[in-house]
Amino acid sequence: MRALQTILSDLVFLLYPEYCLACSVEVPVSQHAFCLDCLFHIPFTDHFDNYDNDFLLHFLGRQQLECGLAIFQLQKGGRVHDMLSKLKYRNRRDIGFTLGKMFGELFIQSNQYKEVDYIIPVPLHRLKKRKRGYNQSEVFAQGIATHISAEVNSSCLLKVRKSDSQTRKNRNQRLENVFDSFVLQNEELLINKHILLVDDIVTTGATLEACIMRLKVIEGIRISLGAIAITE
Ligand SMILES: [Zn+2]
Repeated sequence: MRALQTILSDLVFLLYPEYCLACSVEVPVSQHAFCLDCLFHIPFTDHFDNYDNDFLLHFLGRQQLECGLAIFQLQKGGRVHDMLSKLKYRNRRDIGFTLGKMFGELFIQSNQYKEVDYIIPVPLHRLKKRKRGYNQSEVFAQGIATHISAEVNSSCLLKVRKSDSQTRKNRNQRLENVFDSFVLQNEELLINKHILLVDDIVTTGATLEACIMRLKVIEGIRISLGAIAITE
């Protein structure tokens, strides 16, 4: 009996973190990644309940999309901002993976869920990926894949050139700046497929839009967008 309890508690730790994902101090609420205080303070979006949300509206009139979903609103200096800095700069890939599982769970329960063929993470330039050791959007994608039956595809969309700084540029200049840095390969794999394109943080949306513009030339492709957080 005791052995079984130990096995069960080990399993729970595999599924849910030992410490709150946001503050890393408190114990999370049962079967959740966050403690009660963080759950209360973290700004969740309405995206999974609301098709016409600010994520999708951001691309309205320019890009044809199936849906756009982010888990959190990002506030500078807030708890989500801290958590995502750890994911990006402090080797905390567990954060990306757990948030991916959370996204997958929310997505599959939402009325916007449609079967996905491939989850495509926004790529990093290979030198940047080597330096960081991982692509945070790819870790997020791997977490999502544990809940929806779709394969993570990191080989069709590649980043081949580092983009210049995006500050002091208007929307069109930003888009032009990043568009050339993405290329496709083996794109026949994506013909008539529904793909979920995912990024960690969406700010101006220029990176996602550049990726969409590359992908949308593929015959019969349908694109949904997913992110951990979107700026207000
Ligand atoms: Zn907490």
